[in-house]
Amino acid sequence: MEDLRHLFRLAADHAAAYRRSLPERPVGVPLDRAAVTDAFSGPLPTAPCPPEQVVADLLAAAEPGLVASAGPRYFGFVVGGALPAATAADMLAAGWDQLAFNAVTSPAAVAAEEAAGGWLKELLRIPASASVGFVTGAQAANTAGLAAARHQVLADAGWDVERRGLLGAPPIRVIAGEERHGTIDRSLRLLGLGVDVVEPVPAGPNGAMDVGALRALLRAGSAGPTIVCLQAGNVNTGACDELREACELVHRHGGWVHVDGAFGLWAAASPGRRHLVDGLELADSWACDGHKWLNLPYDSAFAFCARPDVHAAAMSYAAAYLVGSGGAPAGADLTAESSRRARGFAVWAGLRELGRDGVAAVVDRCCALARRFAAGLAAAGFEVANDVVLNQVLVGFGDDGRTDRVVAAVQADGTCWAGGTTWRGRRLMRLSVSNAATTEADVDRSVAAIIRLAG
Ligand SMILES: *Cc1c(COP(=O)(O)O)cnc(C)c1O
Repeated sequence: MEDLRHLFRLAADHAAAYRRSLPERPVGVPLDRAAVTDAFSGPLPTAPCPPEQVVADLLAAAEPGLVASAGPRYFGFVVGGALPAATAADMLAAGWDQLAFNAVTSPAAVAAEEAAGGWLKELLRIPASASVGFVTGAQAANTAGLAAARHQVLADAGWDVERRGLLGAPPIRVIAGEERHGTIDRSLRLLGLGVDVVEPVPAGPNGAMDVGALRALLRAGSAGPTIVCLQAGNVNTGACDELREACELVHRHGGWVHVDGAFGLWAAASPGRRHLVDGLELADSWACDGHKWLNLPYDSAFAFCARPDVHAAAMSYAAAYLVGSGGAPAGADLTAESSRRARGFAVWAGLRELGRDGVAAVVDRCCALARRFAAGLAAAGFEVANDVVLNQVLVGFGDDGRTDRVVAAVQADGTCWAGGTTWRGRRLMRLSVSNAATTEADVDRSVAAIIRLAG
């Protein structure tokens, strides 16, 4: 017992010291990849090793290869930090080693998911009657939502896809914005629909779907089984599709609407940003991440479905030895996993830590800081290439070559970290403000570093 306490304390102390170092730690460390690989490699150990030695060796090996992405000046991809209580809850989930399969294998894990699921729906303004699968990421949430969509549009056409598969099934139309996230395509591949099925809808000036083009496409094609993927939060520009108008259009055609709202759906939690996702409650399924803007530890995301029966029909399975939890589908009925980690504890803890006001404040602060970034860089004469409606900022530094050189210099400098992207055929720096801990001072320091390095 004392040994175990010491061991867990060792791990927790190191994690806390690491977190404490983040605000002043170089964000982009010049990495010796070979040294990190070497530190972990070696022959398969033959003999057992005392746990404390294992942890000490792990700390030594991993430390030089850690990326300070949880820190307040990491603006790459769309990456959040990890809230303190949520992180501690995840440590407990590991310590308790619960199997979140169903309410028999862990009543606490399922109860936490159910409570947190209710809170999430309230915050995101998704109907309270919707089901929530606690999945690994928006990738998995897109797959679950599109699996439910595939089930229902084919059931409407008299085809049971879970039993009969897609061979011989009525064809499905899949319509999605041309600036959709790449995970939509992978979900379509995994679901046997393939990527060539997509009928792309052109985007408007800021990367949201052109709803007029969607209307024309729906009219022009057949009225058979139809799935439409909308987006809340373009991964480059932050733009959100006009959900109300698009949902109404698709439903008039009898189609299913899936919304990929990995980060953008969080606009619903802020009274000041809510208008960006107006009408989201009309959709049939939604994907949203916890590990991005909600600042939960990896991996954490949510697959919502307006029809719990359809969600479970697409995702659950039965076996003779499964007594089940009785009642509504829960736990593994709503995800593609069978044995699974108890993600609900960290979600419950993160929401309790922030509260409704705290979530809204994180969203509002990140949006304000994104505008501060844009204003600072524009004032220095650089081009802000998108309309900064949310937390994403695209910046051009002249031609593509120069922009790439500035991005590389910023990454090597270590004051902050920003990635490069290609949008509308141009290379741009992409800044995402998604960390609850980022301050105005962090942004000002980063703007100053970028200006210095671009000069
Ligand atoms: C990040 C993102 C995804 C993928 O989410 P993961 O959590 O990485 O699986 C999907 N769609 C959008 C719009 C995203 O921003």
